[in-house]
Amino acid sequence: MANETYQVFALRYATVQRSSSENFLGGDPHETSTRMDYYVWLLRSPTRTLLVDTGFNENAARERKREFLRCPIESLSVLGISPHEIDEVILTHLHYDHAGNHDLLPNARFYLQERELHYAVGPSMRHAVLRHPYAVDDIVDVVRALYEERIVCLNGRTELAPGVIVHQVGGHTAGLQIVQVWTRKGWLVLSSDASHYYANYEQARPFPIVHNVAEMLDAYDTMRGLAASPDLVIPGHDPLVMERFRAPFAAAQDIVVQLA
Ligand SMILES: [Zn+2]
Repeated sequence: MANETYQVFALRYATVQRSSSENFLGGDPHETSTRMDYYVWLLRSPTRTLLVDTGFNENAARERKREFLRCPIESLSVLGISPHEIDEVILTHLHYDHAGNHDLLPNARFYLQERELHYAVGPSMRHAVLRHPYAVDDIVDVVRALYEERIVCLNGRTELAPGVIVHQVGGHTAGLQIVQVWTRKGWLVLSSDASHYYANYEQARPFPIVHNVAEMLDAYDTMRGLAASPDLVIPGHDPLVMERFRAPFAAAQDIVVQLA
């Protein structure tokens, strides 16, 4: 079947100030602190709507001292979408900032790499440094959704729809997946946390929250190889995304940018 053409949106819902050593392995004493923004993404074709990641809620923001700008799921209304309409969600991985808010998406099925599921409930979680970015309540929700047959477990590259392909890359977590989507500009890649910032992959400087450094570096190549052009590789947490792309209409200003 021919690829459908998707519009792709990034919805920013939270932010925090970070130091360079928190963003780059080894840090950089010459750099001052920078912001980290938090996003979810939406893919929309004439026949299909997929949400990519689900973000965190206000309680999680308070606990982890993030500045909560707005609920990412409620923000879908800016694009004229009700949370009840969302029936397909790609979870790039299960870290707290990507996999919360299950209670707000009662009709969703979740696409998740099997390896990420195993990792999040496996023996690695006895290590505080690896466990810290996961929220156990979110993981319990995922297990509950699994028992309700709402988790679709994937093994590597999978075409979810004509024009939407996920690729497992690992690196940041054991089972991280990135999203390749067909747009009017060609193939666009949502890298999620395969690369938090443009600088991580452009300068091959890994992000310090890492499961496997070699796989993280390999993922930078994979992302580039899957996108039609370098400007169509979208990092997961970079404030520059809000500057390089425009709001689709005035009412979406500072909330949503259209990537393609
Ligand atoms: Zn993240």
